[in-house]
Amino acid sequence: MQVNKKRLEENLHRTGDIGRTPEGGYTRPGFSPEYKQAVRALKSMMEEAGLTVTEDRIGNVIGRREGRYPEAPVIMTGSHLDTVVNGGLFDGNLGIIAALETVHMMNDGQVETDHPIEVVAFNAEEGSEMGGTFGSRVMTGRQDLNEKGLEEKLAHYQLSVEDIKSSVRDMSHVKAFVELHIEQGAYLASEGYDIGVVDGIVGITRYQVRVSGESNHAGTTPMKLRKDPVTAAAAIIKMIHEKALEYGHPFVATVGNIEVQPGMYNVIPSEVTLYLEMRDLEQARVEQFAKELEISAKRELSEVRVMFELQVNKPSKMLSKSVMKAIEKACIQEDGISSVVMSSGAGHDSKELIYKVPTGMIFVPSVGGISHSPKEYTTAEQIEKGVRILYRTLLCLDRQTEENEV
Ligand SMILES: [Zn+2]
Repeated sequence: MQVNKKRLEENLHRTGDIGRTPEGGYTRPGFSPEYKQAVRALKSMMEEAGLTVTEDRIGNVIGRREGRYPEAPVIMTGSHLDTVVNGGLFDGNLGIIAALETVHMMNDGQVETDHPIEVVAFNAEEGSEMGGTFGSRVMTGRQDLNEKGLEEKLAHYQLSVEDIKSSVRDMSHVKAFVELHIEQGAYLASEGYDIGVVDGIVGITRYQVRVSGESNHAGTTPMKLRKDPVTAAAAIIKMIHEKALEYGHPFVATVGNIEVQPGMYNVIPSEVTLYLEMRDLEQARVEQFAKELEISAKRELSEVRVMFELQVNKPSKMLSKSVMKAIEKACIQEDGISSVVMSSGAGHDSKELIYKVPTGMIFVPSVGGISHSPKEYTTAEQIEKGVRILYRTLLCLDRQTEENEV
């Protein structure tokens, strides 16, 4: 069993180079002409690998390699083919090309699996008008057909609700899903691990924190008499940072935006809005953090009024223990590959799949922890290790039954 590094590298560019920007990045948003061009390239690459290729009506592509038992449930592997604006070569694309390479390796070694293997490329995982993880959300039947304005939004892409319905798949015929992805953080690279075995994907909770004070003349109001919401907001930001450090890894909290009203040199502002986002694997901790913060802010900043308004609450999701075991077993079988169990701080298609299918993720290191940037990079050596682990994991899942849990 050998990874063909040259083939892997070439294939990574055949899809990945589509949508190249002058800044050296890649812009290939879901539904775009560049996305469709990449779909065409991928389809011919899948055909070259001997796969039977289908595309659903919303732009997900599937390449199937039959197993010994055509009726057996499918083992699925892949990731997303779209990118953010001016993103990197590896985010999403690597998971598809790595999956394709494992099929080539099976072909090279004339390996016959019991279960069919499917390589899947999802459309519009990155945020778009349709929201994140669109392709996988539709395929798993998790798209809310009553979502407000759905028909109008779909019409922008020449799609209808019928297209959504016809793209839903019966996931009970899928045995497992495995996604190889770049970490997009610096943990693996800084700790010196080759592979991250992902145990869960953090939740995302967003609040608008509104701090109301008293607007007044900036020249004539003495410092002592002010009810300044900016000063109070600064104290809240400091509390957020200190408390998040106390909560420890993987908990993170970010104030991503600050709006000040009316926002002028010569007026003490009336109101400040902080855009607060928190992520953790345990939703209860996020809720506790928000509650403690609200209590402290209200108690310590009595000169202003503080209001917390929940905007988004997407819970965390644990991945499949049995798929994790298969990945861990693969890491033990492969000499010289170090691995660690870790959580994902970013959302992924896997977070949709896990609702319907035993799902696991394999992380490979991101140099410098950089992603969503032209500077995104993973070394060829680390990619090769990742593909070896993916290959072994697929074979392991192929043999895994409930009785002989690996
Ligand atoms: Zn991604």
